[in-house]
Amino acid sequence: MFDPIKKAEEVARIVTRGEQRKYYRFRPARFYGGIATGDCVGCCLRCLFCWSWREVVAAESYGEFLSPGDVARRLTGIARKKGFRQVRISGNEPTLARAHLIKVLEMLPPHFHFILETNGILIGHDRTYAEELARFPHLYVRVSLKGTDEKEFSALTGGAPSGFVLQLQALEHLAAAGVNCHPAVMVSFSPREKVQALREKLEAMSGAFEEVEIEELVLWRDVEERLHRAGLEYHTAYQPDGMPPEQV
Ligand code: SF4
Repeated sequence: MFDPIKKAEEVARIVTRGEQRKYYRFRPARFYGGIATGDCVGCCLRCLFCWSWREVVAAESYGEFLSPGDVARRLTGIARKKGFRQVRISGNEPTLARAHLIKVLEMLPPHFHFILETNGILIGHDRTYAEELARFPHLYVRVSLKGTDEKEFSALTGGAPSGFVLQLQALEHLAAAGVNCHPAVMVSFSPREKVQALREKLEAMSGAFEEVEIEELVLWRDVEERLHRAGLEYHTAYQPDGMPPEQV
């Protein structure tokens, strides 16, 4: 079990160089109705269901260093070519390179909406991160919760259970700073009652968190093998209300 904050510092030393950050791909994607996407390298968690595991665990071997200007140009180039209004940094964890991310946000024309998909660990750890993000009205943040409580977080990510508290704190810090955000949660490993308990907890934090995005497990072959090796049980069948089945 590792400390996600220490892991973030360790990985940041590999994937950042001054204001540059490593990226392994740029692409148009169909999500959010069409979005230009830059896939960065490096993360502070080790989620067993991660679809970009290779870049997570071997960050030193993948990607190229790009400046904020390079990234802003590539994202806007794809968006203009495809007629998209939205851009994002995805793949691994965008917040690891704070100076880089802020510079990209500064360089993007404001008519593009930037969707920040994050595990929230660093924003939960440092309130000023959320306050700095609040400068950008064209920013929307999606915080992806790994499980429904500390125990599940740790089993799924390999990180210390306190990481789950940081994820929730990220939502608190963002809401307090006035940043548009919402929670998403991976529920494939959770019984229905724990998902419901999390929903109630989030709603008590803020009425804005009443809507929770349900994340579904995508069973790529390598994901299935990792889950099997870890002995983790999961379900992939959802009810019309977006909740896991009654029996799991
Ligand atoms: S937080 Fe995201 S990028 Fe990082 S390991 Fe988990 S799923 Fe992969």
